[in-house]
Amino acid sequence: MRLRTGRLPDVAGDFSCASCGQVFRAADLDRVLWCEECIAAARRKAQRIGIWFGIGLAGALAAWVFLVEKPTIMIGGWIGAVLATFWLGMRIGRELSYGILRARSGSRPPVQ
Ligand SMILES: [Zn+2]
Repeated sequence: MRLRTGRLPDVAGDFSCASCGQVFRAADLDRVLWCEECIAAARRKAQRIGIWFGIGLAGALAAWVFLVEKPTIMIGGWIGAVLATFWLGMRIGRELSYGILRARSGSRPPVQ
């Protein structure tokens, strides 16, 4: 018998994960009915997408800087700007793709 922790009441019974369709107890799913495994998988996928998003943005900025601006001084400042763009782009890409992945929850029919 599990102690009540103030989460969903146990009387709710079993639910299937909205993403993979496996059946879990209500207490093991989050509020959009995803199991921990699917949440972790979505986070990893979003992290990868975010890194590529950051590389793309930083690459575009770096190309613009060195092809258009052609800096001869303050190279370090430009490199800093490119790195900051990579970091920001990675975070934005990660949060955006995680939100999109989560919003698609339920697109796969539950397997009983
Ligand atoms: Zn799942």
